[in-house]
Amino acid sequence: MEKPKRTVIRKLLKESGREQFGQLVHVKGWVRTKRGNKNIAFIAVNDGTIIHNIQVVAEVRNFDENLLKQINTGACIAVTGTLVESPGQEQPVEIQAVEIEMLGFADPETFPLQKKGHSLEFLREIAHLRPRTNTFGAILRIRHAMAFAIHKFFNDIGFYYIHSPIITGSDAEGAGAMFHVTAMDIDNPPRTTEGKVDYTQDFFGKETNLTVSGQLEAELAALALSGVYTFGPTFRAENSNTPRHLAEFWMIEPEMAFYDIRDNMDLAEEFLKYLIRYALDHCMDDLEFLNKMYDNELIDRLKQILDNPFERLSYTKAIEILMASGQDFEFPVDWGLDLQSEHERYLVEKHFGKPVILTDYPKEIKAFYMKQNEDGKTVRAMDVLFPKIGEIIGGSQREEVYDRLLQRIHELGIPEKDVWWYLETRKYGTTVHSGFGLGFERLVLFVTGMSNIRDVIPFPRTPQNAEF
Ligand code: ATP
Ligand code: MN
Repeated sequence: MEKPKRTVIRKLLKESGREQFGQLVHVKGWVRTKRGNKNIAFIAVNDGTIIHNIQVVAEVRNFDENLLKQINTGACIAVTGTLVESPGQEQPVEIQAVEIEMLGFADPETFPLQKKGHSLEFLREIAHLRPRTNTFGAILRIRHAMAFAIHKFFNDIGFYYIHSPIITGSDAEGAGAMFHVTAMDIDNPPRTTEGKVDYTQDFFGKETNLTVSGQLEAELAALALSGVYTFGPTFRAENSNTPRHLAEFWMIEPEMAFYDIRDNMDLAEEFLKYLIRYALDHCMDDLEFLNKMYDNELIDRLKQILDNPFERLSYTKAIEILMASGQDFEFPVDWGLDLQSEHERYLVEKHFGKPVILTDYPKEIKAFYMKQNEDGKTVRAMDVLFPKIGEIIGGSQREEVYDRLLQRIHELGIPEKDVWWYLETRKYGTTVHSGFGLGFERLVLFVTGMSNIRDVIPFPRTPQNAEF
């Protein structure tokens, strides 16, 4: 039999109509379930291109008994057969099998995903197999769609994608503890005459780390190309065992010359709404699945984001609201406090009932590069706070005045030799500019309705965990 070329299951389920009925088709995928009786077998096959399975109908007498016996959950098979309209309600079409090949057997005695309904905790322990579940298929497809939409959004407004380095010689970014990168023998590193580790003999001739942010490099590019963005992995060696922190996560960092804090907020809001609209327009099958299985308010919550302008207010006003709230917070509220997610979520979920952008934070709790306000106490920072997530974006207008930036660098004891190149952008052709960082996994958390960040990245890196 001459086999037709393989068709992906998404195409069969989404694009075939009456004209395709009766055609011979060829599909490959993994068996989700097999049921039936002694005359007929119904095999649900999924190839991951869509959440739905294609139903394969096999008349038992036409097939080798041993082959049918081996077709169990998890096995990989190829099916050639006739595409027909499905009599069932569950699917528009199904395949009447003419030929079935076993591509890869999965022993039902040991295959860990034999049954449905495993806990997310259990699935984390088998991260090498969890993409085979409906849940992780849905999450991974949504994650892809969000990455694509991010590039599309920026490309359509004329921003350029900048690849910032992953290994950095600067530890001045101030966003958290860093992982060292070295090619030295750590049991026996070269030492100086005073007995200190001699980094001049290391691979780069100096101490290097994994980056915590691509922002400083993005600023250099923005002050040449106007609108740019980075989208890459970032690393934080903090022992934060929370459902919202990873040691390795992806960040999107747009940076814009000629944007002040207001322009920055407008862009952040437009960007987040675009991404959520994109998910609603392009990922509905997967969202419906997650809405049904995990979070029946998910789709409504996504739609609600689109309906209202985000609330914008200063950090100082937010502190007043929190102090007047009468809530019993774990971390007591006071001006100068770095807001915790309990405070952020109170503002978003209880007080305003929509996303909030907080601005003008105390300078002591924000990084050296933020534009200083006239009051001498606050900086032009902006954090975007989301329901269920807390901080999803952190950003600011940047300090563009050379002397003020230098003064702040001195105040904080940052060695000038580490940031001389950054300072030069303020010496030559400086201008107002702004930017922000969106944590990609926090976005995917929000869009999928999952509650643990370990479930929205294929292979999470967290303290004590780098198995897969
Ligand atoms: P948080 O206060 O939530 O720990 P942060 O203020 O340290 O975050 P920024 O340095 O402002 O974070 O980073 C920008 C964005 O990156 C954050 O708004 C968040 O979306 C995301 N992010 C920060 N740290 C992590 C992390 N450890 N894992 C995943 N995403 C993160
Ligand atoms: Mn932040």
